[in-house]
Amino acid sequence: MTHFRKYKAAVITGPRKPIELWEYDYIDPPAGCITIAVVRAGVCGTDLHLWQGDDSSSNSNSSSDDARDIEPFILGHEGLGRILALGEGVSTDHSGTPVSINDIVYWNPIRPCHACYECTIQRDLTGCQNGTFVSPARNTVSWASYTQVATLQRNNNFYRVDAANVPLDAFIALGCALPTMLKGLENKGPIHRGEAVLVQGCGAVGLAAIFLAKIAGARAIICIEGNAERRRMAERFGATEVLDMRGAEYETVEARGRRIREIVGARGVELAIECSGHAAAVEEGLALLGRNARYLLVGTWAGARTVALSPFETVHKALKIIGTTYASPENYYQAARLVEAHFREFPFADCVTHRFPLGQVAEALQTVAAGAAVKVVIEPQAE
Ligand SMILES: [Zn+2]
Ligand SMILES: [Zn+2]
Repeated sequence: MTHFRKYKAAVITGPRKPIELWEYDYIDPPAGCITIAVVRAGVCGTDLHLWQGDDSSSNSNSSSDDARDIEPFILGHEGLGRILALGEGVSTDHSGTPVSINDIVYWNPIRPCHACYECTIQRDLTGCQNGTFVSPARNTVSWASYTQVATLQRNNNFYRVDAANVPLDAFIALGCALPTMLKGLENKGPIHRGEAVLVQGCGAVGLAAIFLAKIAGARAIICIEGNAERRRMAERFGATEVLDMRGAEYETVEARGRRIREIVGARGVELAIECSGHAAAVEEGLALLGRNARYLLVGTWAGARTVALSPFETVHKALKIIGTTYASPENYYQAARLVEAHFREFPFADCVTHRFPLGQVAEALQTVAAGAAVKVVIEPQAE
């Protein structure tokens, strides 16, 4: 049993419109489902694009047309919840680990359909066109995370986490970013021991890249970032050189390029990971790539800007340029296990720089828009 009879969720009713709190009746979970009290919801840059109505992803159900009526929706695709009730037939999480009331789970609000070409033929759940980043607000239940209570459906994969020993903030800190980076490395191939890695942008996605490069044994991890707080965090995660693109010394592409070549040597960058979401960064990255280099593009979730690409350079240098989108359920499981294994050496929990109650989702999104935060979280149970 739970003390919830009613609960609230934050609802988006249109691009940039004030965010409304809607009230729902608590209902017990149907067979095969569970209900959870959401204790942390991570705010991701993608949420900001969805609120603003940017055409940010094929999984988006929003539009760039501000005048268009939209179906109201609940945001949030990063969440930790405490189990309130288990529906009939549920005794384990989706890895087979037994679960009980009050356990904390980390879940994937995006539900692959397991019934489309991408899911079943290509076997790439991140390509599923039927999963969405949001939960329709007119439903009687939500599986997104900007809510006090969520009802996880059969295809919302969820995994128990070790909340007795690991701070909740450590799990939410890299939100969807760590699973996404794990998926990216599946697509691109692993970071090799002794490799030099260039990471462009040190928000959550960039920090996940630094973390994975560090535990892979990279010899150098060079980062480009303009935000001082993120630069400090990049260093704490193990970056060996962090170039301040807003400081006098490295404000130009040329100055940064000179320094990066000094570090990696004349061969150029062998591995670069674009985590900033800025098209200009992609241009900068392409110019730095050496022969046989691999370039992983992961940071761009909105925008129509294009960049110039030299087909000759790409062929001549045998470049591998790979785009990767979001994460598969197993990447959530892996991310939780990595956080549990490494939370003492890496400052995951300290990445949470801003917290807001459910009634201040707009302020939370504006904080992300201002670019001042490392990680913003919503605490739906806070007043
Ligand atoms: Zn995200
Ligand atoms: Zn599908």
